Amino acid sequence: MLLYFTEYLILRKSLHVKDVKPPFEYRNVTIKTDENPADKYNILPELGRGSFGTVFLCKEKASDLELAVKIVTYKKKKEKTMMELEIDILSSLNHPAIISIYDAFDYGNKLYCFMELVQGGELFERVIDEDFVLTERACACFIRQIVEAIDYMHSKRIIHLDMKPENVLCLSKQGNRIKIIDFGFARRYDPHKQLQVMFGTAEFSAPEVVAFEEIGPWTDMWSIGVICYVLLSGLSPFVGADDFETMTNVSFAKYSFDYAPFEEISSTAKDFIEKLLIKEPTKRMKAKNALKHEWLTQLDCISESSHKDITLSLTKTKLKRYVILRRWRKAALSVMFINKLNKLSNSHLLNSC
Ligand code: AMP
Repeated sequence: MLLYFTEYLILRKSLHVKDVKPPFEYRNVTIKTDENPADKYNILPELGRGSFGTVFLCKEKASDLELAVKIVTYKKKKEKTMMELEIDILSSLNHPAIISIYDAFDYGNKLYCFMELVQGGELFERVIDEDFVLTERACACFIRQIVEAIDYMHSKRIIHLDMKPENVLCLSKQGNRIKIIDFGFARRYDPHKQLQVMFGTAEFSAPEVVAFEEIGPWTDMWSIGVICYVLLSGLSPFVGADDFETMTNVSFAKYSFDYAPFEEISSTAKDFIEKLLIKEPTKRMKAKNALKHEWLTQLDCISESSHKDITLSLTKTKLKRYVILRRWRKAALSVMFINKLNKLSNSHLLNSC
């Protein structure tokens, strides 16, 4: 009994989202144009690649502070403008679940965005770890932080527009704090102006994106619904054999909970997803209301039903497969990209012969 109680406390403790002291105070960053970042920072090994640019580990020379830096080499004005917008948006955000910006430079046709270093890896990589106890409550704990960050962004009239598992990192390998990254597609939202976009990741894109209709804060809420569905089941609700099939599935907005992993999931969690995966944007749950939804509010209640503490072993097995498949797809895409580059440089060589 004592053992059970201790374990229960440990489980509860692990769900507690501790406040972590930020590595630096909030900074309102403007892009420096007449300084070489190499004078102040040592750029270290690569951490990852995104839609635009590459992210490296780095260290500030004066303080030894470890940071991450996103470097974008721009050739066209549009590429420069997009990164400038990302820096501007990051600079106006100050929230514990959103990556903090530290410094920015425009030097030698490259834009440098220095930000807080996050060392826990992608959320989905963490939850499939052997040591991680995946329960519905743990999922709700992560989703609540995501919704809190999105609610804050939306209150500042900023929409992320690329919410997907890869853009949710864990602050550390032990704690439960998450950080939303990659504001490369983020936009300022003016309710009086119509905004349409043609980008994002098909699997997590909302029907209005696929139909090239008006987008807004509701567009992020759809993506959270998809992330939540995948996190709780290891299955992707709209994914098809290719992007075209996926987009067709998204446009129909038809999905089901009739799969084995959902047998262990509470009706409250399913209701949460159902209120997000609604084709009609105006009927979709807003971030503020999502935070008031029973699935997220019950998280604080100790005496609450124990079935939400059941280990989701089938979900974990499916999630592992899902993560591996995504890694393969990412690797295949970079091979295609390298082949394309090789072809381009070969043709350049031929042309210059
Ligand atoms: P992004 O272009 O922002 O999507 O970043 C590309 C990849 O770099 C991500 O998928 C992460 O693996 C890594 N990354 C981005 N930002 C950070 C950060 N602040 N700390 C650690 N790794 C990061």
